[in-house]
Amino acid sequence: MFIKVPKGTQDILPEDILKWYHIEDMIKEILNKYGYKEIRTPYFEYTDLFIRGIGESTDIVTKEMFTFPDRKGRSLTLRPEGTAPVVRAYLENRMDRISKVIKLFYLGPMFRCEKPQAGRFRQFNQFGIEVIGTKSSAADAEVILTVLDVYKKLGLKNLEILINSVGCKKCRVDYVQKLKKYLKDKKDFLCSECKERYNKNPLRVLDCKKDSCKKIIEIAPVITENLCQECESHFSEVKSYLNDQKIVFHEDPRLIRGLDYYTKTAFEIISGGLGAQNAIGGGGRYDDLVEELGGKPTPAVGFAAGIERMIIAIDQQKIKWPVEKGLDIFVAKVNEKNKDTAFRLLQKIRNTGLSADMDYSEGSLKSQMRIANKIGARYAVIVGEEELSKNMVIFRNMQTKEQKEIKIDNIIDELSL
Ligand code: AMP
Repeated sequence: MFIKVPKGTQDILPEDILKWYHIEDMIKEILNKYGYKEIRTPYFEYTDLFIRGIGESTDIVTKEMFTFPDRKGRSLTLRPEGTAPVVRAYLENRMDRISKVIKLFYLGPMFRCEKPQAGRFRQFNQFGIEVIGTKSSAADAEVILTVLDVYKKLGLKNLEILINSVGCKKCRVDYVQKLKKYLKDKKDFLCSECKERYNKNPLRVLDCKKDSCKKIIEIAPVITENLCQECESHFSEVKSYLNDQKIVFHEDPRLIRGLDYYTKTAFEIISGGLGAQNAIGGGGRYDDLVEELGGKPTPAVGFAAGIERMIIAIDQQKIKWPVEKGLDIFVAKVNEKNKDTAFRLLQKIRNTGLSADMDYSEGSLKSQMRIANKIGARYAVIVGEEELSKNMVIFRNMQTKEQKEIKIDNIIDELSL
């Protein structure tokens, strides 16, 4: 029995890698246009970062982290999300000294020990953006516009944008009191997890997907009716920027998101037809996180999107992927005696910048041509005794099947035609 890939993880095979390159290229192209710079943080961090950053009572921290001790007993965690590590790096590298507002993006694997299902993995990839150092509502709008631009570049349609304001430290306290009061006599009807959430972090009840809780939540007081003046005007400004850009969005006063650090704007982007795991991205403002992680009060806003779900959505919407550019030259040999000359020639061709390959399986010329066809080679250079004695090779157009003898020294000229 061979060992299989761990549950909830998957191999990205060569036949799919082009999809990843394509998505990564499009992401980088758009983010570059909006002025974001890439940051790469480690795949694991000290566990405390996530406990403090994401929130002790969130699902991620209570049951989804891959946590392990290092050899000295310090607790490490495979990063379940990218924002807390980026903020850690921002503080540690004193990025506030570079400029007042910093725009960063990341792209890479995240790890959550969730129950695997379609569109939900234990190792998945996210791209995310963070704008740190501004409280401007225009930045919230820009973050939304940026990711919509990425989706648009990839050809994704039928996206629904849900937006909400979850208030700030000040107005949320009053709202939580109201919510608790409303939930108090319904507590017995909440699921066991929500009973606990009621005590630890009642806002999280709004995020419950269980039918029994959903019914109760449906008529619960909403946060948007309890915002302070500042949060209220911030929210209207964000909406008016979006309206101005003709972005259609829906307000969802029950949208909370799974991480505790959000303040004011929270939003999610849903792709129709993806089933239960239909959120292809989400984000919001997190004005307190930098301070909670030891920095001075620094407002910020960001977003993260799941790349696997983007791929599923692209396939589901039948959007065409770019096709692989075949190999320029396949070098074949008539028999094994010509192997060394073929090898020398192969390297010479590669050194000119063209892509080239040969078959090492000692197959017949016929089988080599089959391989050349399979990998989509545009031309084949066939090295045979007879031609070599004249310092020539056979040059074959794999598509038209036309072939001619050419001087070895002329191969490169021939190819640039
Ligand atoms: P979050 O970091 O929870 O705000 O998630 C942001 C986005 O990451 C989601 O909208 C999904 O597209 C993606 N995502 C989150 N968790 C998973 C997972 N377990 N598997 C695949 N994608 C995920």
